[in-house]
Amino acid sequence: MSKNTCCENHNALLERVFKKLKLKDSEKQLLTEPFREVRVQIPIRVEGGGLKVFSGYRVQHNQARGPFKGGLRYHPSLNLDETRALAQIMTWKAALIDIPFGGAKGGISVDPTKMNKSELEALTKKFTQKMGPLLGKNTDIPAPDMGTNSQTMAWIFEEYSKRFGYTPSIVTGKPIEVGGAAGRTEATGYGVAFATRQFCEEVGLNLEEVSVAIQGFGNVGYYLAERLTAMGVKIVAISEDYGGVFNPDGLDYMTLWEYKEKTGKIYGGRNKKISNDDLLETECDILIPAAMENAIDAHNMKKIKSKMIVEAANMPVSFCANEYLEGKGKIIVPDILANAGGILVSYFEWVQNKQQFYWESEETIERMEKKLHKAFKNVVFRAKQDSSSYRDAAFTIAIERVLSAIHLRGF
Ligand code: NAD
Repeated sequence: MSKNTCCENHNALLERVFKKLKLKDSEKQLLTEPFREVRVQIPIRVEGGGLKVFSGYRVQHNQARGPFKGGLRYHPSLNLDETRALAQIMTWKAALIDIPFGGAKGGISVDPTKMNKSELEALTKKFTQKMGPLLGKNTDIPAPDMGTNSQTMAWIFEEYSKRFGYTPSIVTGKPIEVGGAAGRTEATGYGVAFATRQFCEEVGLNLEEVSVAIQGFGNVGYYLAERLTAMGVKIVAISEDYGGVFNPDGLDYMTLWEYKEKTGKIYGGRNKKISNDDLLETECDILIPAAMENAIDAHNMKKIKSKMIVEAANMPVSFCANEYLEGKGKIIVPDILANAGGILVSYFEWVQNKQQFYWESEETIERMEKKLHKAFKNVVFRAKQDSSSYRDAAFTIAIERVLSAIHLRGF
């Protein structure tokens, strides 16, 4: 049986909502096809003088509610299909949390761990030169995603400003020193923790009694672990791409981070080494995939033991696994709500850049939680009203808002 592509998976998840909303074919086409997609060739000189050629992508999905907005991913498996699906998710996410952006995504198919800093800088600046005409502070605003970080954004800001003049609002997720928002680095992980707490309260799970497994210990996984620990949650398993660790009595995320900084891996102490598959199948109350898409699919869906899955990554549950797990009564907190803290604080950064007036990180996180709470309330209300899953409720709200903007503007 051939596996669905990312886009097929994502569109299959939307189909139920399209049917319920009785959308016309033309409306479905407008909502699923990207507005524009571009692939560029990026040749750079690498250490030793050789030439390497990479492929870079930008997909702009929909701008009915505002400029295109979405992250840049550096990963060897990145391709146009995956970028298309991720761009679409950004449109729904921005609409659900009600910020004035459309959706986009992009990146380079490259393994950034195999490049040194100057090669990464050259690659990023070349990508910016090639994509520059498509970007703009009121047109398309990139941000970090897997394999990119605030340094990457600072290089884009510099390269873009050389050609178009000083424009900090051309990217979000920058270092604070060059116009980044205090709180942006933590935002996605903190937002996932906030969503976890709200849904636990909603379904009657006591946070101080639950056990959590987290797949992915990068930017999102780290700050999520920090916030959950502060809330008194027991984290029993954490993994990275090479495997992870398990301890039924609870893991200390900070010690793991220190092991990682010292040795490059999170192994150490009395924790049991586990594989990534083991992590997903861990006996726990809440499973939080915070790494790649399709982490949970037909190959492992029957082995998932947690009661709740909180989607910190984008699209970590395939269409087929979603149907199966929903059928088993599992609670799935959808990505477009769970990880929306990132784009929300990106929006705050964009606003601050435009005003050249900066807020304290407490103010940023407080405003983020207020907005996320409103979106959470809307999703829970809509799910009850429609007797639907949280995912369908979130998509319904987002699609209605985007469609309404499309019709009002007369696309
Ligand atoms: P990151 O690059 O900082 O970290 C990624 C982590 O995932 C690393 O720990 C890596 O080892 C792990 N990983 C990679 N491949 C894996 C695999 N096959 N199995 C298990 N672990 C694997 O990335 P991040 O910024 O933490 O993003 C993680 C996820 O969250 C991505 O899906 C991203 O799209 C999503 N997301 C990130 C943000 C953000 O603001 N950073 C916002 C919204 C969504």
